[in-house]
Amino acid sequence: MTILVAGGAGYIGSHTCVVLLEAGYDLVVADNLSNSRKETIDRIKKITGKDFVFYKIDLRDVEKVEELFINHHLDGVMHFAGYKAVGESVYKPLDYYYNNLVTTMVLSMACIKHKVNKFIFSSSATVYGNNKVPFVETMDLLPATNPYGESKAMNEKILMDTAKAYPDFSVSILRYFNPIGAHESGLIGELPKGIPNNLMPYITQVAKGKLEKLKIFGNDYPTIDGTGVRDYIHVMDLAEGHVAALEKIRPGIHVYNLGTGQGTSVLQLINTFKEVNGIDIPYEIVGRRAGDIPISYADVSKARKELGWTAKRGLKEMLRDAWNFEKRL
Ligand code: NAD
Ligand code: UDP
Repeated sequence: MTILVAGGAGYIGSHTCVVLLEAGYDLVVADNLSNSRKETIDRIKKITGKDFVFYKIDLRDVEKVEELFINHHLDGVMHFAGYKAVGESVYKPLDYYYNNLVTTMVLSMACIKHKVNKFIFSSSATVYGNNKVPFVETMDLLPATNPYGESKAMNEKILMDTAKAYPDFSVSILRYFNPIGAHESGLIGELPKGIPNNLMPYITQVAKGKLEKLKIFGNDYPTIDGTGVRDYIHVMDLAEGHVAALEKIRPGIHVYNLGTGQGTSVLQLINTFKEVNGIDIPYEIVGRRAGDIPISYADVSKARKELGWTAKRGLKEMLRDAWNFEKRL
């Protein structure tokens, strides 16, 4: 079975390529490398010892995508391509809507035209907004406080309407919680451009001495120690969740949370980082970050029941692997 991995040179896509190749799938990978490097493609091949075709194309380009669908007999598409920096989306809304919506429309139109009926989409826990935890797939979505979050909710709606109109089109929407960590080889991992927005790469860069200290955004939230709580998930568990979703995909549209179901605060994360890696993370408490919610974690029972998937790796492995990747850079 041949899968098109759109955005496969990126953080989550690259780890998913490894798991797909190891599970015996053939891949076609497409990415414009706007937030990734060609080297990652070579490293996926090195880890797995398997080969695949890579296209450096923009997935908004209808003609290039058409060509790709003509040249390969595809069985399914995993769509990771998009912009993901929440803060940046506020001052570049059009870039975010244009990229995150048009890639989905171009890819799903090509799927319908060429009868490629399996489509897996990267959504985000951000669509739950400030709902009550744990977040369950049946909850009403709350308006996001930023264009990135809105683009995910809009994508879900576009795919819902499409799945309704084309009954053979099978769509899985995967709502990721907070992926961190790296492949255990340390060859692929998260490579943010510039100063990281997310907590984990910020911490590993402080550990490395690239950044001086972590700024903790608020310690007055109604959480265990006042700092924000998130459901961190090992990126390899997340990648395995995609293969489970692909194997169980069926007509219609089905939404799954991919998380661990466990909440961890910022302070708990840096204390565990020290315990695992023996490195102290200097920090200061600063004001809350605009748009942050206090607490987010998943109800994971639907993915467990319907996909037979649960996250296997714990916080210590996530922190060990994140550091193992950063220190080799
Ligand atoms: P990433 O930026 O590392 O990967 C995205 C990849 O898509 C990059 O390689 C980029 O070059 C490529 N890309 C972007 N626009 C493209 C275009 N128009 N044409 C071709 N390639 C394009 O991000 P990631 O962390 O791997 O995230 C993958 C997906 O998961 C994204 O849709 C993101 O919004 C979603 N997501 C990520 C997180 C997270 O914390 N990382 C959480 C929830 C959801
Ligand atoms: N956070 C922080 N300092 C940082 C980056 C993040 O204190 O430099 C906090 C943030 O307020 C949140 C948690 O860490 O409570 C996770 O943030 P991240 O941006 O990684 O994920 P998201 O908020 O998108 O879930």
